[in-house]
Amino acid sequence: MKYLSLIFFMSLLPQYAGKSLRRDGSHPRTFEDIKNEIAGYSDTAKAIIDLAVHGKAQNRSYERLAVFADTVGPRLSGSKNLDAAIQYMFSALQKDGLENVHLEPVKVPHWERGEEFAVMLEPRNHSIAILGLGSSVATPPEGITAEVMVVASFDELHRRAQEAKGKIVVYNQPFVTYGETVRYRSQGAVEAAKVGAVASLIRSIASFSIDSPHTGWQNYQSGVPRIPTACISVEDAEMMSRMALRGTKIVVYLKMGARTYPDSPSFNTVAEIVGNKYPEQIVLVSGHLDSWDVGQGAMDDGGGAFISWEALSLIKDLGLRPKRTLRMVLWTGEEQGGVGAEQYYQLHKENISNFDIVMESDEGTFKPSGLAFTGNAKARDIIKEIMALLLPINVTDVFDNADGTDINYWMRDGVPGASLRDDLSKYFWFHHSQGDTMTVQDPNQMNLCAAVWTVVSYVIADMEEMLPRDSKGALNK
Ligand SMILES: [Zn+2]
Repeated sequence: MKYLSLIFFMSLLPQYAGKSLRRDGSHPRTFEDIKNEIAGYSDTAKAIIDLAVHGKAQNRSYERLAVFADTVGPRLSGSKNLDAAIQYMFSALQKDGLENVHLEPVKVPHWERGEEFAVMLEPRNHSIAILGLGSSVATPPEGITAEVMVVASFDELHRRAQEAKGKIVVYNQPFVTYGETVRYRSQGAVEAAKVGAVASLIRSIASFSIDSPHTGWQNYQSGVPRIPTACISVEDAEMMSRMALRGTKIVVYLKMGARTYPDSPSFNTVAEIVGNKYPEQIVLVSGHLDSWDVGQGAMDDGGGAFISWEALSLIKDLGLRPKRTLRMVLWTGEEQGGVGAEQYYQLHKENISNFDIVMESDEGTFKPSGLAFTGNAKARDIIKEIMALLLPINVTDVFDNADGTDINYWMRDGVPGASLRDDLSKYFWFHHSQGDTMTVQDPNQMNLCAAVWTVVSYVIADMEEMLPRDSKGALNK
């Protein structure tokens, strides 16, 4: 009935005069048509929100994550814990009654930190909290004892390059944003080695600290000596900086037993709700299952992984089946640079025209504020209409630049992408540290995140047409 009256109404509109017909004789759909189609999902959106936030599924993603995080613990690439996590999820997803639950084999880096510690010997004895950075080499078995050179930036290191030989370079760079400051972690050892340093200690990339080191991956460069590298707390970096500015000589003993093993077999974990009209077309929701080897990886990225699972559970529980296939992927090897996702992309990219949107939540599941989207202007307008369905929980904003290591491969080639936006104010307090535990997760916030994730993915999967996209490389941000 609605459909017939809509056609009648459109036939009265003057802008349709002289417009070409489609092959099947229908007019191309206007944005008004799409808007109306999306508005038709308002009851479904309310049902999803009710179930996730107030109903039987309330707190489910949090409770599932708590059992998982407490049982498995941290899940470093190449570790037995990560294998256990993947097996745990494989059987949990099957028990949940999801479809096509399977594991897709990939190879991931295998690095272990081993025993590690650092002690300040001069001007006074002080134990320095460190976490070796992923891929770091070990010190010699007897350790390294060397004088410290403190710098606040790469510029200062280069200016004072002749002082660096034989020293341990300590970076005390201020935290600006993660994106801007993280290069000190990823390139700090290489830059220090280029000027002859024997090791580097990097102030943790953290916006707040209670003497907590925050680890992360770092990269060596071919042709540059590989020196041991670790992060230290903001407090120790600042103290050593103050000492150095006073002209005090600082000597540190550093011992690291890190080892890199051959790449390990691992898996991306997949589950689906198969579409009933266009099953070959894919709406992908995701988070990564691997984590650092500290804390519980509850925030990074347990939250993102478990709201992605929750999206499929909620849709199943409501008896909904979208036209397209809703596919959840829990990536492996993200922390080493999206290693599992890269292999997934290589394996599936020949099917790229069937990927409607790729979504990843990997920046916390705190109080959600909206969705970050990468795609063309038409698609963005559609996303804005979909987000309006989330008015009941007041999470309607659409931001620029979807972000997610694992979905970048697809977005780079023109597939629309989305990431969850939430309150990041405390995210980097805990990121990659012992503090990333269930204690930072909040069930109410996870409920809201799950509702956003589910409404967006379901509506996109069920709409009559895929999101419009430009040809490869022509994306608007
Ligand atoms: Zn992450």
